[in-house]
Amino acid sequence: MSGSGRTRAAAARLQAELVECSRCPRLVEWRNRAATAKRAAFREQAYWGRPVPMLGEASAGLLLVGLAPAAHGANRTGRMFTGDRSGDWLFRALHRAGFANQSRSVAADDGLELMDAAITAIVRCAPPANKPTPAERETCARWLRAELELSEARVIVCLGRMAYDQVLRLGRQRGWDVPRPKPRFGHGAEVDCGPAAPLLIACYHPSQQNTFTGLLTEEMLDAVFARAAEMLARPV
Ligand code: SF4
Repeated sequence: MSGSGRTRAAAARLQAELVECSRCPRLVEWRNRAATAKRAAFREQAYWGRPVPMLGEASAGLLLVGLAPAAHGANRTGRMFTGDRSGDWLFRALHRAGFANQSRSVAADDGLELMDAAITAIVRCAPPANKPTPAERETCARWLRAELELSEARVIVCLGRMAYDQVLRLGRQRGWDVPRPKPRFGHGAEVDCGPAAPLLIACYHPSQQNTFTGLLTEEMLDAVFARAAEMLARPV
């Protein structure tokens, strides 16, 4: 088997193990409760109700890291950022930047494909009020750590401060040359962690809280992905 074939096989094994995880009792209870009670608009749908795997290939040049699945978004559809307002914003932007074949993302079988991009999150089960505890973030770090091990990304876009902090922390554990003191989080801020590490770009999370208030605009999101595309176009 080729190197990339081995990586693909290892990534598939990892995601198969991930979807069986039940290490966090509070989050297991919450993801199950949402999947059973359902939102009225989705009453006829079968919810995924499990940990949400990474979307895309480990070989992708761009890796996006979000916070956690939404109870009636990815916890329903089983695909990262699919089926909620944050995802609407994100996939539209990825499509505009050439990282997705379509802007529509409503269900796991809607034909969406990422192009040289992958999406994961620091916590893989839907948390109450979208707020995982520090202990839950630590417990779930095992999965992102393993994904970073396999990832060939040259650019990582961190969606929100929690993702930013976690990626920097795990990156430092991996031996990346993370600057000290840790650079402050800010939209569009870049962190160079040395030649052996991907470039990190901080980005406000496309949550309704940020998009409704205008803290994050489509132009701001486009600027981040344009920068990512520019970096990926450079020769290795
Ligand atoms: Fe497992 Fe992560 Fe879900 Fe906790 S949040 S149960 S560690 S997949």
